[in-house]
Amino acid sequence: MGAEPEQIEQAYPNVLSITGPQQYESVLDAVHRAKPPLHNPHLDLIPPQGVKLTPRHYAYLKISEGCNNRCTFCIIPALRGDLVSRPAADVLREAERLAKAGVKELLVISQDTSAYGIDIKYQPSIWQEREVRAKFYDLAKELGEMGMWVRMHYVYPSPHVADLTPLMAAGKILPYLDIPFQHASPQVLKNMRRPAHGEKTLDRIRGWRETCPDLAIRSTFIVGFPGETEEDFQMLLDWLDEAKIDRAGCFKYEPVKGARSNDLGLEQVPQEVKEARWHRFMQRQQKISATQLAKKTGKRLPVIIDEAHGNSAKGRTKYDAPEIDGAVHVQSRRPLRTGDIVTVKIDRADAYDLYGTAV
Ligand code: SF4
Repeated sequence: MGAEPEQIEQAYPNVLSITGPQQYESVLDAVHRAKPPLHNPHLDLIPPQGVKLTPRHYAYLKISEGCNNRCTFCIIPALRGDLVSRPAADVLREAERLAKAGVKELLVISQDTSAYGIDIKYQPSIWQEREVRAKFYDLAKELGEMGMWVRMHYVYPSPHVADLTPLMAAGKILPYLDIPFQHASPQVLKNMRRPAHGEKTLDRIRGWRETCPDLAIRSTFIVGFPGETEEDFQMLLDWLDEAKIDRAGCFKYEPVKGARSNDLGLEQVPQEVKEARWHRFMQRQQKISATQLAKKTGKRLPVIIDEAHGNSAKGRTKYDAPEIDGAVHVQSRRPLRTGDIVTVKIDRADAYDLYGTAV
């Protein structure tokens, strides 16, 4: 029927859009045009720029909803409930559909990706005539066989993250982890009800990098959490120096309505102190990111093209996610197209981006 839209329009003049079969993106596009999605920074997994329909060459793949953790600054469990995971076969079927539609990069998202399947006791489901468990590692392994770049977002810093690094080292999934560490001071982490003592996390990061030396880590942090002292904050800066996180975002603590962190009886950090700490954090991290990026100079790296304008283009390496990380500015003798994956010789780097030539 989608091939003869006039017939539908005549019968139902209020229909907003008509598409052909399996044109999922056109359907979503029409829905978003009719009712643009509002961005809620406290709830949304996709960054504000990413709420628009993503280009065809990358797609977000949501594997579960809700969260079993109870971080004190967060209202997601209260609003979205406990973890509900999708069966593995369901997720894999969607991934396969996306691959067939031309998607080259999958961004695996959920509120807590590493907890995938806990709620359904890792229940197996049938995928390509065999059983696949609803388990973080098993799912990543299967996704890694589909010929797309697979990028893991929102991984809780739990011990079994280490299971993924051999898949990264073997080139099955991207050597990239988006892990919101939030802080490094044991006291602040305790007040946040986050796991992992800062020291232990450093050991884990070392272990991951031993298995996968080119692993890129993105993280987010909160400064000015109630009760955060200058000593706690200094500990965070020292931890950043040790951890050498490739990309980091930093938020100033905001008392979100309904969050338990408001009722812990801890002293609020004055606004100007939060502000100053945020600047100190950003300065420190900028240096670290610039040093990490400079190591890429001279290398030949695969780059996925996000925007092409004739012989110049903007793309990303495996170490950068769309919308949130940096870009590679590419010059090329031949015209490039969006979605191409090309080898680029990196000529130089600044604090955020790389610059290179397609070879
Ligand atoms: S893990 Fe994430 S979603 Fe879950 S409670 Fe903590 S911050 Fe909220």
